[in-house]
Amino acid sequence: MIGSHWTWQSLIDGRMTLTAFCHDPACNHSQKLDLVKLRDRYGPDASAMEWDVRPKLRCARCGGRRVGLSYTPDTSPAGWHGSSYRKAKGE
Ligand SMILES: [Zn+2]
Repeated sequence: MIGSHWTWQSLIDGRMTLTAFCHDPACNHSQKLDLVKLRDRYGPDASAMEWDVRPKLRCARCGGRRVGLSYTPDTSPAGWHGSSYRKAKGE
């Protein structure tokens, strides 16, 4: 993430996946966040940077607040193919 400032909408548009990890070694829970749900709750232009999001999070399993975030591009082939084939307009 060099020089980018994520909002909920830009994460969705950029096909990013946001995963929360519990730092409690006894728990080690990780969970993919529902970006659409979070966008609807906080608004599309709300900041989705780690330092903004982390205080809002709590581990769903142990309730701990030591939660880390991982931003990863969604590389699932389905969406990728869809958008690249759509580009070619038939004559
Ligand atoms: Zn936990």
